[in-house]
Amino acid sequence: MPGLIETFTPTDDPRWLIEVDGFDPRLEATVEAVCAQVNGYLGTRAALEEGSAASRPSTFLAGVFDTPAAPQNTALPAPISEMVVAPDWTRLRITLDGAPLEIGAVELLEQRRVLDMRQGALLREWRVRDAAGRVTRLRSLRFASLDNRHLCVHTVAITPENYSGMLRIESLVDGRVTNENNTRHLEPAGADRLDDGLALAMRTSQSGYLLAYAAHAELRVGGTAASPDLVVAPDHVGWVWEAPARPGALIELRKVVAIVTSRESETPESAAVDKAGRAAESGLETLFTAHVAAWAARWRDTDIQLDEPGIQRETRFALYHLIGAANPDDERASIGARALTGERYLGHYFWDCEIFVWPALLYTHPASARAILMYRYHTLGEARAKARALGYQGAMFAWEATDTGVDWTPPYIINPAGEKIPVLTGIEEIHITADIAYAIWQYWQATGDEAFFWRYGAPMLLEIAAFWASRAEPDGARYHLSKVIGPDEYHETVTDNAYTNQLAAWCLRIGLAVADSLRRSGQDQWRHMLDTLQISDATLAAWRRIADGLVTGDDPPRGLIEQFRGYFALRDYDLTGHDPAVATLDVKLGWAALQSLQAIKQPDVVMLNFLLWEQFSPAARAANFRYYEPRTTHDSSLSVSIHALVAARLGDLPMAERYLRRAAQIDLNFANKGWAGAAGGVHIAALGGMWQALVLGFLGMRPTPDGPRFEPHVPPQWGTLSAPVQWRGRRLRITASAAAAEIALEAGAPLAVAWGDGPWQQVAPGQPLRR
Ligand code: BGC
Repeated sequence: MPGLIETFTPTDDPRWLIEVDGFDPRLEATVEAVCAQVNGYLGTRAALEEGSAASRPSTFLAGVFDTPAAPQNTALPAPISEMVVAPDWTRLRITLDGAPLEIGAVELLEQRRVLDMRQGALLREWRVRDAAGRVTRLRSLRFASLDNRHLCVHTVAITPENYSGMLRIESLVDGRVTNENNTRHLEPAGADRLDDGLALAMRTSQSGYLLAYAAHAELRVGGTAASPDLVVAPDHVGWVWEAPARPGALIELRKVVAIVTSRESETPESAAVDKAGRAAESGLETLFTAHVAAWAARWRDTDIQLDEPGIQRETRFALYHLIGAANPDDERASIGARALTGERYLGHYFWDCEIFVWPALLYTHPASARAILMYRYHTLGEARAKARALGYQGAMFAWEATDTGVDWTPPYIINPAGEKIPVLTGIEEIHITADIAYAIWQYWQATGDEAFFWRYGAPMLLEIAAFWASRAEPDGARYHLSKVIGPDEYHETVTDNAYTNQLAAWCLRIGLAVADSLRRSGQDQWRHMLDTLQISDATLAAWRRIADGLVTGDDPPRGLIEQFRGYFALRDYDLTGHDPAVATLDVKLGWAALQSLQAIKQPDVVMLNFLLWEQFSPAARAANFRYYEPRTTHDSSLSVSIHALVAARLGDLPMAERYLRRAAQIDLNFANKGWAGAAGGVHIAALGGMWQALVLGFLGMRPTPDGPRFEPHVPPQWGTLSAPVQWRGRRLRITASAAAAEIALEAGAPLAVAWGDGPWQQVAPGQPLRR
């Protein structure tokens, strides 16, 4: 029977594929991230399995962090918790008569890599020629199962084209890995022979997570299984086969690896052995069929379609990584700034998750969105501790969190000039606490999940309100928030950042609404929550006063919001020709100079307008956008997709499309040789921003407490744009072109929806609403 590696065919449609031809070491790190295999439990970069000087094989397991031991030398910076590079399940070595078939050692005649996003698999086809002119053709396929997230499959076909000889093939599970900075996080914790497989366990040195791998592999030479020598070393296990090579005769490796950690199992080793055994029994074909079916289910609920092939493909790239970033079964991990595809930002969780990535999950896979909010719930203790440590009440969430919820924002960094630069975001970028509240409220609004809301959401919202009340500084009837950093990190230690203040006021009002509902609820268990959290009538009266008194930054004569106190008095700076890919403004001008300029890193007031859209008049939204957009450097990758979104809502389609295309290029600009775009991992916030730009921007979806409203603005050259959206147990489909629009109900009971600010109308099965 031909194996999976022979029968596999990539989807016959380039709009589902990321194709990379040849090998350019300068692009390799970006390719590894872009083509990573991801399923929310793990991410494996697309490094060449046999390695090369430009390759860094890395697998990341969600929530597996470790803090290196403190250095002896106390002058060195204290170590920081980071996402651990886990053992490599793809390691392969092939030698021909003793010489390795590796790029560098042999000539690469051709190579093609194809990430098939529809099937969630990576195909690689390549041919090499050694110094003696012997040509070998290779084909490999790998995937990290979305059906059973613990399983990984690697299969390779090796075909000698013009020679006979002896091939030695070595396939490993390799724990001899380090993080980028050479930090070794893993210690051997047992390696074993199984009945017909191998097992390797490694333990993270400080956090003590056990990572258990169990694997089965076989090598078929001309259809019959070859017998291997087994390698069982403390930090790696594997198989070594000697295979006679004959022209045209296929040699095939089939390998399945199960990974289980002590995060999700009390007996990870036996769980991994069990999973690997069952997987091997069912066979790679069956595993692949189940995997593709799992992707198909997610694509049905997630795929956005349009008739512009370039943007279509780039959109699917965003959706592929968004689906692969989350795991609905894991309440103890969130999504890092580069998801599970790279080490930049050390895997830390920022506001990127809740504000940029998470909405795509909320409206396509609410179970994943819920798990991420539960992660914040489980870290509430740390958020309380952070508030207490700084002299505040309630819960103050970490700016940079990892598995535990402790804030790991580095206290300072050493810049290229060797200077020690303090990092203030951990103390000052307090808007993250409001961003989390915003997500909780969006979840409640879009799902109506009562069980979650009253048990987990409500206490978080109350503790967040309590934090803001204690953080606000009274000044007569007015309240200020000083020493903050807004989303625009180019201005530090400012007072009354409008984004922070207005979202803080919003949190206080939400806190009041929650308290009010709890009081009126017939259920004692919920009513007691207020007593437990020591929220009295006086507390609530104070919340109301502070919400009303917080300075908003509104500047009525100009119809603008001032980003923070004193911003309008700063010097305007001409950004014509500024290109963040060449140099960001902090690098060009130095940090100190930025403080006196109006130039901003990323949307701040525009971000506020977007999040609290209904609170602003159409004139105010437009005026602020026109004022701030030319002052924005887009030096953060989070910037451009939000500009696409707001420009689309304002009906400026040429600008919206320009920004959307820029967002897609952040990771995919392969034409620019030397491009290091996604080297440190894909920019998952920018990709989440693309989903938002398309659905909340171009399709104009505005979630409200009464239902979703839609006001599409679709560029004519896109033909029709169509997206599925989940809302309170229904699946809606919005389809729009420049000329017409339709809302259809694909699953669930009739629902009230509206066009723009128009009246609510029922959409029922088989009875789409048209405009
Ligand atoms: C951005 C932040 C973001 C962080 C992690 C920074 O450069 O300014 O908004 O949270 O990167 O992606």
